[in-house]
Parts: sequence; C-alpha cells; structure tokens
Amino acid sequence: MAKFLIPSAGRTAAAVIGDPVLHSLSPTIYNAAFEHDQVNWSYSAVSITAEQVSDVLEEMRQSEIGGLSVTMPHKEAVANLVDETTAHAKRLGAVNCVSKNGGALVGHNTDGEGFIKAVVAETKEETEGKSYLVIGAGGAAKAVALALGEAGAAEVIVSSRNDSKSRKAASLAGQVGRSGSLSEAEEVDVIINATPIGMRGAGNENQLPLPVEVMHKGQIVVDLIYHPLETEFLKNASRIGARTMNGIGMLIHQAALQYTLWTNKEAPVHIMQEAVIQQISK
Ligand code: NAP
Repeated sequence: MAKFLIPSAGRTAAAVIGDPVLHSLSPTIYNAAFEHDQVNWSYSAVSITAEQVSDVLEEMRQSEIGGLSVTMPHKEAVANLVDETTAHAKRLGAVNCVSKNGGALVGHNTDGEGFIKAVVAETKEETEGKSYLVIGAGGAAKAVALALGEAGAAEVIVSSRNDSKSRKAASLAGQVGRSGSLSEAEEVDVIINATPIGMRGAGNENQLPLPVEVMHKGQIVVDLIYHPLETEFLKNASRIGARTMNGIGMLIHQAALQYTLWTNKEAPVHIMQEAVIQQISK
C-alpha cells in the first residue's frame, strides 16, 4: 500500500487531505500550536485524489498518523469511510476531522461549533435568541445553520441561488430554520456570508453577496471568508456602522477543536491565530 504521510523521526504525523491543498493554512496553524505546546507532532498538507481517500484512512488505522483534517472535495467521502461518525458529522454528511478511538477511526465535523465559539469570543454576546440570515447553502452554511439551531437561535433564514438547497440547509436548524430572500437581511440581527463571493482568487473579489442598502447600523455582519482579511462586504458593512467579523475566528476555533480531539490538550488559540494572520498578511 502506498504511504501518503511519512512522519519525521519519532513524531506523530497529522495532515490535511484534500485537492487542492497547496495553499492550505492548516500546517501553519497546527505546527505553531504543536511547537508552542512542545507536542511531538508534525502536520503537513497532502493532496490526494478521490480514489486515494480509502488508502489514506487505512494508513491511519495501521500507522503513526494521529489525526487528519479533511477539506474539499473529500468531506463527504470520508464520512462514508470512517468507522464511526459524531452526531454533527452524520447530520451534515460531511467530516472535516478524523481522530482515533482505539483501532477505530472517528469522523467529526467541527465547523459549526467553531463558528459559534468564534462569534461568542468576538462579539462577547450569546448566540441564543437572535435572528440570522445565512447567505449560501453549501457545506459551511449547513454547518452554521445546524449549530445556530442548536445554540438557541430565534430564527435562521437561509438564502441562496438554489431554493431547494436553501430549504435543505435551513432544515438543519430545526423549527427555527426556513429558506428566505436576501431582502430579509434588513430585519435580522446577524448576517453571515457563507458563499465564496469576495474571496481572493475566486474571480469576484470586488462583488458583494448582498446589496449594501439592506444592512444597517448595529447589525453583526460576518464573512466566513478569511482571505482577504477584510472583504468588500465587510468594508461596506463597517462603513455603515455594522459590527463586523471575518472568517479567521471560525477557522481557528474549528482547528482548536480538532487539536483537542487529537491531543486531549486545550489549544493555544492565540498562538494559532497570530501564526495564521502573519501568514495571510505576507
Ligand atoms: P460550497 O459548499 O461550495 O458552498 C458555496 C455556496 O455559495 C453554495 O450555496 C453556492 O451555490 C454559493 N455560491 C457560490 N458562488 C456563488 C455566486 N457567484 N453567487 C451566488 N452564490 C454562490 O462552499 P463552502 O465550503 O460552504 O464555503 C463557502 C465559503 O465559506 C467559502 O468562502 C469558504 O472559504 C468559507 N469557509 C470558511 C470557513 C472558515 O473556517 N472560516 C470554513 C468553511 C468555509 P451553488 O450550490 O448554487 O453553487
């Protein structure tokens, strides 16, 4: 069987698997944490094809691979190949983290919990009782809708260019979830961009996921994008007096949860955050 991860001498290997992973920030985030905590692990980015996913998981079962992060396009495939899945990963049908429990591989999804932790940390407010508009209905939107429903949101409206996908994502929030339109942004407490509109390299960096006119002062506006650190969407929201938050918090907090699942240690969140901001700002 081909080996995908070669641990450096005496170290436990961890990696992100996906395609592409060349520009992944995960090695920077996790290696900063391992170094800070003097944990003898090393983390790399490994590009694999769909056909290679089951081989990598088999390698993890048999060797010194301690943890895997999973990114596009393999999150759904891994959910079907691990031995156990957590309730969140099962409901989302997607795994972004694999840990070991004895000989078994356990699939987790830390995106939603990471999002909630980030919002609470940055806004210093609880998530419950508020109304939310989630723009987009892909993997991130689903994880956010599920987490908001569990966190006691009063209403979770999902709006995307495909209404059946919006309804599916909104249903993850339970009774408080429904599909809706972008114009409803005016009435909500929190607006979340969960599309790639405005992301560097996506070809639409100057576009907005929502017309500026429907946002107002006092709202919390979140962009899950972290590159650039301040998208056009956030710049506009900030200009009209909304409180803004980029995707770094979610990126770091979902990674921190993975770190703890693998090492049983509390993650050095500030070290991870500093390392990633330094890398993005280069
Ligand atoms: P995804 O599964 O591909 O979903 C993207 C969503 O955006 C889909 O609903 C898609 O609609 C919609 N969309 C894409 N391009 C659009 C356009 N030009 N106009 C209108 N809608 C458009 O991607 P994802 O994994 O959910 O990621 C979404 C964003 O969140 C990305 O920017 C990603 O970087 C970010 N993200 C951040 C974190 C973090 O930790 N901060 C974690 C995950 C994701 P269709 O389905 O119709 O194509």
